[in-house]
Amino acid sequence: MEKIPRLGLGTWKASPNQVTEAVKIAIDLGYRHFDCAFLYHNEKEVGEGIQQKIKEGTVKREDLFIVSKLWNTFHQKDLVRSACQKSLKDLQLNYLDLYLIHWPMGFKAGGDDLPKDENGMAIASDTDYLDTWEAMEDLLSEGLVKAIGVSNFNHKQIERLLNKPGLRFKPTNNQIESHPFCTQEKLIDYCHSKGISVTAYRPLGGTSNVSNEPIIKKIAEKYKKSEAQVLIRFQLQRNVAVIPKSVTPSRIKENFEVFDFELTKEEMDAILSLNRNFRLADLAFSKNHKDYPFNIEY
Ligand code: NDP
Repeated sequence: MEKIPRLGLGTWKASPNQVTEAVKIAIDLGYRHFDCAFLYHNEKEVGEGIQQKIKEGTVKREDLFIVSKLWNTFHQKDLVRSACQKSLKDLQLNYLDLYLIHWPMGFKAGGDDLPKDENGMAIASDTDYLDTWEAMEDLLSEGLVKAIGVSNFNHKQIERLLNKPGLRFKPTNNQIESHPFCTQEKLIDYCHSKGISVTAYRPLGGTSNVSNEPIIKKIAEKYKKSEAQVLIRFQLQRNVAVIPKSVTPSRIKENFEVFDFELTKEEMDAILSLNRNFRLADLAFSKNHKDYPFNIEY
């Protein structure tokens, strides 16, 4: 597995006027991994925070692990390089540590991030993600990125990628939704069996109310930790990276204080048993797309 720092800061919906400060606070607290994406439309402000901390001498570029993602409207082979360069420019970086294909589905290029037809359904591009992957491999060869991976890919899609004739570089990481209501055991096992690391996104379970589950509350009380800390610790003990998002200084701190306790095997199993394959990020408007990832079990 590659050297992805296990705990990172998520930045989706981190408002541009708060995220620079959040990134700076996080770096001061010891965060080294930052999860970004073109789609979040705040990479400039994230980059500002990173640069300020580098200039102050708090961290060096090489101490950081910066992830960004290729959005669905840039899957066409000849758009990949400029999409990556846009993220690099906004982040004020000359390389990314990891660049991911955000979703397996390609969308119509050249307009909205979420192009929709008259029925509100996604307009697909005809690009195959195997072709997109070749352009991702070029970025790696050219040194614009240190590693390439995928996000929201199911195991069949990863298998197809791994079996691509002429594959030059394997994906090193699959970033997927995971929390106790969507534990993803099969997909995580599959990825690990192929030497692909996994990053758990939306670890706090969003609007699912997972932190109100009695078992989570009981474990939190036992260790005198918050429910959020239990949910983060749960992922760390599964050997996956985890990227909780917060722009609130006290929560950014709280979410990093997860290395001084350990859940027992029974507690891990009890949390795993909450699984109900419930997804918050289902991008349902693209469910008719040929590459929609959630029409099979995992
Ligand atoms: P999270 O599970 O990280 O939850 C974030 C929410 O929880 C925010 O509202 C935040 O509020 C709040 N929060 C954070 N810490 C605490 C705490 N200690 N106690 C109580 N509430 C807390 O959800 P995300 O969807 O943001 O997922 C994390 C990251 O994963 C994203 O930011 C993004 O980087 C990535 N992601 C990737 C996707 C993909 O398709 N690859 C899809 C979705 C997410 P506040 O900020 O106000 O403190």
